Order: sequence, then C-alpha cells, then structure tokens
Amino acid sequence: MDLIPSFAVDHTNLQPGIYVSRTDEANGATLTTYDIRMTAPNQEPAIQVAAMHTIEHVVATYLRNHEEWKERIIYWGPMGCMTGSYLIVKGGYPCEVIRDLMLEAFAYLRDYNDEVPGTTPSTCGNYLMHDLPMAKYEASRYIQRLSTAFCCEYPKAERPTDLHGKTFFDA
Ligand SMILES: [Zn+2]
Repeated sequence: MDLIPSFAVDHTNLQPGIYVSRTDEANGATLTTYDIRMTAPNQEPAIQVAAMHTIEHVVATYLRNHEEWKERIIYWGPMGCMTGSYLIVKGGYPCEVIRDLMLEAFAYLRDYNDEVPGTTPSTCGNYLMHDLPMAKYEASRYIQRLSTAFCCEYPKAERPTDLHGKTFFDA
C-alpha cells in the first residue's frame, strides 16, 4: 500500500540532493525509497557507467557492513539514467538523517584505495567494468554538494502516460 502516493518529478530543474521517492508498507514494515541524486539531470554530465558500477560495489559494501544501519538496508543500486542511486531502507527517516549516512558512505569511497570489492568473474556480472578513480572523484563532488547546497524537496509534475494510456513510471 502506498503511504505517500508516488508522484511524477519534474527533471528539468532538479538539483543534486537526497529525496524521498516513495514509501511502501510490506507486512507491517515501512520501506522508504530515497533518490540519492548525484548530478543535475539533463544539465550536468551523468555519471560514467564504469564509475557508477564501482560506486554500487563500494557503497553497498559499506552500507551492508555498517553496524548501525546494516539491518535496515534493503537495497542500494544505480538509477538507469545514471544521475544517482536508489536506497531503500526499512523505516522512515528525514532526508537529513540519510544525508549523514551518505556523507559517511561517500567519504569511505573518496578515501578508498584498495581493490574494489567483488571484482572477480564469480562475484560480478561485468567485473572488468570498474573505474575507481572516477568513482572517487564523483564521491568528492557529491560530498561537496551535500555539504553546501542540500536539496530534499522534489519539484512535482503531472505523471505522463504513453501512447496507449499507460501511466509512466521509471522505478
Ligand atoms: Zn558488479
């Protein structure tokens, strides 16, 4: 059941930040999906695919080993548009709380100088497609954005439909 009905987002003037994308209830537990938006869509270059892949591995490893948060992390993964990632957690928290967690996670990535975790043919579907230096660059940049111009309110738009009248969703 939707607690907050999912809404369409106007991507034309969207700034990097952390946004609540949707809230769902599953077997009595609240699940919150946050958009971890790292670049301004359609205004700034999107994140390169190899760097995004490395962000996925390193940040997922950090979150799933985090003593305080690991039991509440449901999912972490990239957006198809390559402008950020989705974070799904058990429970509901203000954007500011998730910002602190993301500042920690991206500082871990910024300072990471080891082998990217899970980069063998048996643990990753495209183990050669990684770019740690660019992932670290994106981490530094996002930390800067979260520390200075932090956004957490989405500009809303009408949800469009396709040619056959199906409502459009991107997640
Ligand atoms: Zn992988």
